[in-house]
Amino acid sequence: MNTAVHGAPPLTGRREPWMDELLGDPETVTGLLDQFGSPVNVLDPSPLGRNAAELVAAGRESGVETRVFFARKANKTHALVKRAIEDGHGVDVASHAELRQVLDLGMPPARIIVSAAVKTDQLLALAADSGATISVDHVSELRRIERLASPGRLVAVAPRLAPDPASGVPPTRFGELRDTWIAALSEVQPGVSVTGLHVHLHGYAVADRATAIAESVRMADELRSLGHAPTFLDLGGGVPMSYLTDETQWREFWDVLGAGGEPESITWRDHRLGTVYPYYQAPTRGEWLRELLSARPESGDTCAGLLRRAGLALHLEPGRSLADGCGVTLARVAFIKRRSDGVPLIGLEMNRTQCRSTSDDFMVDPVLVRTNAPGEPLDGFLVGAYCIEDEVILRRRMHFPHGVAAGDVIALINTGGYLMHILESASHQLPLAKNVVWPSLELDGIDR
Ligand SMILES: *Cc1c(COP(=O)(O)O)cnc(C)c1O
Repeated sequence: MNTAVHGAPPLTGRREPWMDELLGDPETVTGLLDQFGSPVNVLDPSPLGRNAAELVAAGRESGVETRVFFARKANKTHALVKRAIEDGHGVDVASHAELRQVLDLGMPPARIIVSAAVKTDQLLALAADSGATISVDHVSELRRIERLASPGRLVAVAPRLAPDPASGVPPTRFGELRDTWIAALSEVQPGVSVTGLHVHLHGYAVADRATAIAESVRMADELRSLGHAPTFLDLGGGVPMSYLTDETQWREFWDVLGAGGEPESITWRDHRLGTVYPYYQAPTRGEWLRELLSARPESGDTCAGLLRRAGLALHLEPGRSLADGCGVTLARVAFIKRRSDGVPLIGLEMNRTQCRSTSDDFMVDPVLVRTNAPGEPLDGFLVGAYCIEDEVILRRRMHFPHGVAAGDVIALINTGGYLMHILESASHQLPLAKNVVWPSLELDGIDR
């Protein structure tokens, strides 16, 4: 049994067939660790194509032209960008290096949106030069872009709307209020073209996004009356996905955690896991988009109707939900020992930044790839390489009904969106994890 590890209560991760194929082959798994070190990230870009197609189809069903721009920051490998290029999708970049890289990989500039929260002159110059669209966060940024624009070269911009907080949408650091933009855009330098609008909201709420669509459509009308010709509304990221297959497990986990019990029987130092991604949620992706497009903000027309009437295509910048199913992180078990008070510890050749997001924990049970014979049951915590008392890979206590031993491999499932890259650090001068692409198992371009 290679799956014999789980939290209590268990949280079983959704797996792709390619993951089962890889994890069912201990020789290949240990071969990868021998060749590239531990941990190693394995990426199959193909689910990205399927995930994107699901969104495009859901939009089309509602009569809204929908285009998908992979949020580059969710995963740094070239493989996922190449997949987006091949499938005709775009990319959302957040720095000069990301922009340079996706241009070099061959992403057509017309399919690039530069959404960086802070934009250096170097980034703006490359964006303007290449013909990528710039999501403009605030008015002074617009003025900087206008100064860059030179005759004969049109810089495409999408002002970022911060929805009116009085409409119930939570306050946001991103963008400017509608009135601010309308005042600023009453005069725009030649050479700058307002090709669309951008909104990026925290969270996943359909209602907030529906309200933002209504206000964006109003802003698009106002822009037209000023002589601009916006063609799209970019609704940013936050398209939901679900890591877990079973809602009951998810509910049960919180019930059990809430009820308490023996000290540290569920989490390291009885952490409450107050801030976590909704690892189980519904609806996701296509179904979520259909729900959004059929929502009626302000009790009027549906979002789909509003966008169609305004002649706006819908652009989405999903990160996590496009990378869903694309990644696995493999780490070798280095040792088994006990904490001074007797709690069993399973030491991994990895550190906690190599499977971390802004969540308090990655709440998906790993898979054990066994290289040793089964042994006595063991339960304890996965600890990592940083010399810090609280250096745990997962905060949930893990149960190994048939034991675990040095040399076995822990596979963290579905780590392609953020988990493997967004917070990784090379502290202690431990090298960053290498990234290999399924099925060739060759190094990704970023590591070559
Ligand atoms: C982070 C981010 C995204 C992606 O968000 P997800 O939650 O991964 O979908 C998209 N657009 C912008 C501007 C972002 O900052």
